[in-house]
Amino acid sequence: MRRKSRVEELHATTASVSKIASRLRYFGERQNEVTETIRQLVEIESPSDNKQAVDRLSSMLAGRFENLGGHAKFHRAQDFGDHLQVDFGGQRGGKPVLLLGHIDTVYPLGTLGQMPCRIADGRLWGPGALDMKSGIALMLHVIGALRFWYSDTLSRPLTVLLVSDEEVGSSSSRKITENVARKSTAVLVLEPSYGLEGAVKTARKGVGEYTLKITGKASHSGLDFEKGQSAVIELAKQIIEISRLVDLKRGLTLNVGVVHGGTRTNVIPAEAKALVDVRVTRMKDAAVIDRKLRSLKPFNPKCKLEIAGGVNRPPMERSQAVVALYKKAVDIAKQLGWKLQEAAVGGGSDGNFTAALDIPTLDGLGGVGEGAHAPHESIVLSELPKRAVLLAGLIDAA
Ligand SMILES: [Zn+2]
Repeated sequence: MRRKSRVEELHATTASVSKIASRLRYFGERQNEVTETIRQLVEIESPSDNKQAVDRLSSMLAGRFENLGGHAKFHRAQDFGDHLQVDFGGQRGGKPVLLLGHIDTVYPLGTLGQMPCRIADGRLWGPGALDMKSGIALMLHVIGALRFWYSDTLSRPLTVLLVSDEEVGSSSSRKITENVARKSTAVLVLEPSYGLEGAVKTARKGVGEYTLKITGKASHSGLDFEKGQSAVIELAKQIIEISRLVDLKRGLTLNVGVVHGGTRTNVIPAEAKALVDVRVTRMKDAAVIDRKLRSLKPFNPKCKLEIAGGVNRPPMERSQAVVALYKKAVDIAKQLGWKLQEAAVGGGSDGNFTAALDIPTLDGLGGVGEGAHAPHESIVLSELPKRAVLLAGLIDAA
């Protein structure tokens, strides 16, 4: 192929910059519509543990995606809301791009009472606004825009997958996410971006949860002190042991977040347990830490230790596939005069599963804001048009 001349290159660049500029204008003119969609989604509460509530939101969403020409289907779940998959055809063939997200939030039903959805100070506030109802709204409006630009179709096939149990570990949806991702060319995760600069996420830690249960022997603390074997003392020593496994340089952390033990002050405690959160940056550290936790030995040989659990989300490592996708995002952002940053974060998402299968995955493409899972959860409205342009560009380029 003949190399492009400098002039031709310049023309091509100018053309794509003006295309991006007109897309930015398009979404700028529709910022209020996107905001309105986010408000609608926030006002339908969807806590992970309330199937009925989550199903209500997902059937509303199925209708909206079908109005955009998608084919919606539900993966039925018994203990959680049904998971929603929507498939779209496109002008060219090939594997679809997967837009991945979740419908559920961490907020119990009725949270809107104390934390109503409101617009103030250039932000939209409310439960799940950032994590991740603004991400879902971006999916809807970007698909709508692409169909407008490509005369009622998309440039390429696209799949949307919205699961209902991400905030509680994705046990019911993991297989579905992995199966859909395996058929996709790339995965764009609409979880919140990082920081108020809106960085995308190119690495996430893997997450594990363990329970350490200790059984000792009960006795009267006054009458039979020496006959008791304190599970609480044993647990205290084990907690110190577990804390020694932390290696901050390797990004390896263990947090004993919950402890239980004992019954009364005058009883030597026969039972105690601890719940431990484990985070790893590399998959191989997960196996090492698992082995170390399972080989903990009792300090008091008359106490029994039982350890259960494991790593339930592999780390999303910053692989070449991830970096290549990030570079495409940087190129698109550059045309908007925006220096798109990347971040490595400690929290996991369903992007961890797809990246672990070595499918190019870019996370944190959703809203920009603060306070995920907290009373001040909010998104910055003026960032929405940029995010939409980036997502639209990535759908075409991924
Ligand atoms: Zn989330």
